[in-house]
Amino acid sequence: MKQLIDLLEAQHSLTKEEWHRLLTHWDEETAEYAAQKARAVSQKRFGKNVYIRGLIEFTNICKNDCYYCGLRASNQKCHRYRLTPDDILECCKIGYALGFRTFVLQGGEDPGFSDEVLCSLVKTIKKQHPDCAVTLSVGERPRAVYESFKQAGADRYLLRHETADDDHYQMLHPENLSPTVRKQCLYDLKDLGFQVGTGFLVGSPFQKTEHLVADLLFIQEFKPQMIGIGPFIPHEDTPFSNEPAGSLNLTLFLISLLRLMHPDALIPATTAIGTLQEGGREEAILRGANVVMPNLSPADYRKDYSLYNNKLSDGAEAAESRQALDARLKTIGYQTVTDRGDYQKR
Ligand code: SAH
Repeated sequence: MKQLIDLLEAQHSLTKEEWHRLLTHWDEETAEYAAQKARAVSQKRFGKNVYIRGLIEFTNICKNDCYYCGLRASNQKCHRYRLTPDDILECCKIGYALGFRTFVLQGGEDPGFSDEVLCSLVKTIKKQHPDCAVTLSVGERPRAVYESFKQAGADRYLLRHETADDDHYQMLHPENLSPTVRKQCLYDLKDLGFQVGTGFLVGSPFQKTEHLVADLLFIQEFKPQMIGIGPFIPHEDTPFSNEPAGSLNLTLFLISLLRLMHPDALIPATTAIGTLQEGGREEAILRGANVVMPNLSPADYRKDYSLYNNKLSDGAEAAESRQALDARLKTIGYQTVTDRGDYQKR
């Protein structure tokens, strides 16, 4: 298996057969070997710096009904909220003072938050903070709408493909959602000049090795600037409430593989990783991740953005505790930086 890791490191890609072999035969020793390589690649490009993004979860209202997500439209128990543009601008102001130079506006697909309002909000943020990047993560929109987001000044867009296998996609989503449309959105975003982030759930229900192989091949071909993956974690008020969570070890191994595949990519140590295990985020950084996205939403709303059970939003996960975050990163010899942290190809 070490040979496959060496090959991946040397050529940044593997064939379908090689991916399949690696994902069916890896063990802890393989993961440790990949981790060492990925860490070295990361440190060579980024030193021991970790980029920070202020995550503003600005609406939990969603018209979609993804089976895994706690914000799905059918979840009547979800306590819904929508921040006002002024609330969001206030979050940015607080974030700026804390040293954040990227704001990520993430939300459900909320028809009540119009594209026009979103565009004018992006313009205002860019005007008030010209040295900051704005990332949007508001799901699937027509190409023309993405174009208007770009014209308004948005720099980046996050849209996980969730699973690259069409049949598996259909097992996780209702019929009105299509894997083809989701991938087309990603191609549109890239074509429009966004720095694009995609990614997938690890250990989602019905996931097989061949699905993960498809995910890796998709990312290998698409070459996203940002790659976010995290373990599936069940939410009690969804159809998948009784499904087991994804494996943390597999998630960490995949992070190392993704780092070796795309040495320049921005790869976050996601909240789901930190939720599944205390210290998970630090472990992800040691295995190739180089971004953290602390929560910058107003504290009163954080618990309501419940994608899955027990989602972390306090402690070092909270933006206001940048010091706490730095203290934790210091234990592994890393530090956060006040920097936009744009994608740079070397
Ligand atoms: N509406 C936006 C933002 C979705 S929330 C969009 O469609 O892109 C961000 C991510 O949370 C999703 O892409 C999904 O991968 C993840 N997520 C949702 N439910 C989850 C769960 N139960 N466990 C782990 N991650 C989950």
